[in-house]
Amino acid sequence: MLKALELAGFKSFADRTRFDFPDGITVVVGPNGSGKSNIVDAMKWVLGSQSPKGLRGKEMSDVIFKGSQTRPPAGAAEATIVFDNSQGNLPIDAPEVHVTRRVYRSGESEFLINGESVRLKDVRDLIRGTGIGIDAYSLIEQGKVDRMLQANAKDRRAIFEEAAGISRFKAKKLEAERRLARVQTNLTRLSDIVEEVG
Ligand code: ATP
Repeated sequence: MLKALELAGFKSFADRTRFDFPDGITVVVGPNGSGKSNIVDAMKWVLGSQSPKGLRGKEMSDVIFKGSQTRPPAGAAEATIVFDNSQGNLPIDAPEVHVTRRVYRSGESEFLINGESVRLKDVRDLIRGTGIGIDAYSLIEQGKVDRMLQANAKDRRAIFEEAAGISRFKAKKLEAERRLARVQTNLTRLSDIVEEVG
């Protein structure tokens, strides 16, 4: 389902760079410090990572290309994940879904889905239940296999629920329950007022 990743001004990728992930296994090789992990950082970042430390930096703006001996720093960092949606796995009526995150030196940042400005929540809702999320199982970093094996039954169940696509509905249910509780409170308040007035 992952089709490509495009980076521009992101960490060591000053120039616009596109990685295509055709069917099968893609292996990224290169010397130490050449930017292999930066590719994974970019994916986590697009999927909504809010922790600079999780991206091996101190501040969010650390993801912007900081310049080299021959090049000035970039003004912004941008990364786009392209998903193949020809099977309609994502709830968007388009054969390809582009999820973009951008951050400027000023600190301003934005998310886009197929070129339209959205909230972080929309990105999270889009990928929930697909197994792609930053907390999901598609990004398996060092130590994660151990953590999965040692997880308690409840946490392990969450992994299976994400794989089965149930977590999207669970989150929606929770949201609906919260909304219902708010409506209930308003109704109670309203009936108090009606009683007072009447
Ligand atoms: P290793 O095999 O050692 O883990 P790697 O190929 O995974 O290496 P990364 O850790 O992805 O390499 O890349 C680190 C490189 O990215 C360093 O050279 C670092 O200077 C560079 N880098 C990180 N952030 C920025 C930035 N904001 N601007 C420019 N370069 C950056």
